[in-house]
Amino acid sequence: MSEKMLKFVNIGQQNPPKRDKIQRKEDFDEIYKEFLLDKAKEQSSRCSQCGVPFCQVHCPLSNNIPDWLKLTAEGRYEEAYQLSQSTNNMPEVCGRICPQDRLCEGNCVIEQSGHGTVTIGSIEKYITEKAWENGWVKPIQNKNEKKQSIGIIGSGPAGLACGEELRKKGYQVFIYDRYDRAGGLLIYGIPNFKLEKHVVERRIKLLQEGGINFVLNFEIGKDSTLSDLRDKHDAILIATGVYKAREVNLPGSDLSNIYPAMEFLTASNKKGLGDTVELFDNGTLNAEGKDVVVIGGGDTAMDCVRTSIRQNAKSVKCLYRRDRENMPGSAREVGNAEEEGVEFMWLSNPKEFKGINKINSLIVDKMKLGEPDESGRVWYCCIKSCLA
Ligand SMILES: Cc1cc2nc3c(=O)[nH]c(=O)nc-3n(C[C@H](O)[C@H](O)[C@H](O)COP(=O)(O)OP(=O)(O)OC[C@H]3O[C@@H](n4cnc5c(N)ncnc54)[C@H](O)[C@@H]3O)c2cc1C
Ligand code: SF4
Repeated sequence: MSEKMLKFVNIGQQNPPKRDKIQRKEDFDEIYKEFLLDKAKEQSSRCSQCGVPFCQVHCPLSNNIPDWLKLTAEGRYEEAYQLSQSTNNMPEVCGRICPQDRLCEGNCVIEQSGHGTVTIGSIEKYITEKAWENGWVKPIQNKNEKKQSIGIIGSGPAGLACGEELRKKGYQVFIYDRYDRAGGLLIYGIPNFKLEKHVVERRIKLLQEGGINFVLNFEIGKDSTLSDLRDKHDAILIATGVYKAREVNLPGSDLSNIYPAMEFLTASNKKGLGDTVELFDNGTLNAEGKDVVVIGGGDTAMDCVRTSIRQNAKSVKCLYRRDRENMPGSAREVGNAEEEGVEFMWLSNPKEFKGINKINSLIVDKMKLGEPDESGRVWYCCIKSCLA
């Protein structure tokens, strides 16, 4: 075992510094700064190089985390990057937005033993950014061109990753998207303060340089039928994501100023990219000066509350039917939202939206937690109704 590892007993956990909470509310820039070189090395050296690495077991990509942490601790950054990217098509994205606290970091053995997890996500971001700076991230080069072509519908992370893997094997790859920019929710869903758009655009440019063709503003079902597309290609992959908003069927849910999260976030992201967005410009999808209530406790809800804060909302509340411990969203994002001034109303379920044409108040049921169900999550029941 390298002498450079197993330092978790003597070296405390450190995350990269966050931008000041007052300053970060003024813009949409990412809130975490980069690690300094020595810190990335030092924090990697805290890993105990487990025989059964639970970080890797709980990584959906099965990333070889202990080995690239060891290479980072030894200052072998290019090898660390090469190993990390061998199982991950966009480690710079995962390093920034993967819910590490529920996956690798949440299951890290030294977290479980009370020493604080190895800061895996930040180290992944650090080595990948270093790789981009040093030109180690290269476009696909094919010596083995194949004649067959593959049409991929959807340019979100699923379409991009599959496209890259197929192109590496030499196929002619065409990615279709109904939007004007590639990237799916990485571009139009997730806000800049978690993932700046130049990070996604840089990756897409690299894929184009590697020979992947993007056909944008092209909706299958409108600009072409699926069967026409099948005739054009040897195989089709459908990677269209999930876009249907969940309905809230309550009295008053047809009032005019209740919006699905994706409409609000897409408008904000388009605005950030410099587009003209009529519904934002006329104030409809702009939270400025408004009392905003966001319903739900997942990552999308956190993105909505934090976007509202940055748009200068008068007040921002998040309504969630369970408590903090039973939220589906990342605990880290909840903490960031609280720091930025979001008020959480735990154990609160919407009951009725009140108003004439527009909502002006919301009645909520106050909930109490019951026993966990077979999935391990606690259920809840109503104890009284009140005004949010
Ligand atoms: C607000 C929000 C925040 C999130 N935050 C995180 C996070 O922090 N961490 C995390 O890990 N995950 C997060 N996610 C989840 C993550 O974004 C998704 O899991 C991921 O984007 C799914 O990738 P995908 O490629 O399957 O679909 P998408 O990213 O949705 O891409 C699908 C693409 O298909 C295109 N398309 C659909 N239909 C057609 C058609 N008929 N013709 C042509 N093109 C079509 C769409 O325009 C879109 O570009 C978040 C999701 C949202 C909504
Ligand atoms: S679980 Fe934690 S300590 Fe163990 S190998 Fe993974 S990062 Fe290192």
